[in-house]
Amino acid sequence: MPESETNPMNELQDAVRAAAGRVEARAAVEGIYRELAAEVEARRPLCVISGRCCRFEEYGHRLYVTTLELAAFLNGFENMPPSATLTKSMASWDGTGCPFQVAKLCGVHAIRPFGCRIYFCDATSTQWQQDAYEAFHARLKRLHESLAVPYFYVEWRQALRALLPLPTR
Ligand code: SF4
Repeated sequence: MPESETNPMNELQDAVRAAAGRVEARAAVEGIYRELAAEVEARRPLCVISGRCCRFEEYGHRLYVTTLELAAFLNGFENMPPSATLTKSMASWDGTGCPFQVAKLCGVHAIRPFGCRIYFCDATSTQWQQDAYEAFHARLKRLHESLAVPYFYVEWRQALRALLPLPTR
């Protein structure tokens, strides 16, 4: 049996790469992100730019992503202008936190996945975040069905290691 049929990470890689090449799939994800941005803009939860939420082990949470989020991200990443700072940050990544965090900022802000767009440490917005997360995540999930894209829900670094040349430490 070919390895791609037995290794879920290879299946993920195939599904993400196939979806990343589909204009309508990327447009659908971007449409959801635009609507979410409008809701965030209306609610205006506080972000103190501590950068802690991207240092997952320190903060005690994890980021999970779907196939279509990864597809939109991968296409954006592969078409980004080269950044020596980001390349250096990724090459020196120690396997904890997010490999795209540069100082306290997001080095892939424009193409970050859904979870990064909805999470705020503002305690006053917790219920709003939960409600918005459920509503938008459900829409993302349904998009996989309507576009016939295999649905994966994978921890961010695990997915990135399957898709990008990152240090293995
Ligand atoms: S993609 Fe950006 S916002 Fe999301 S965890 Fe990584 S550095 Fe943070």
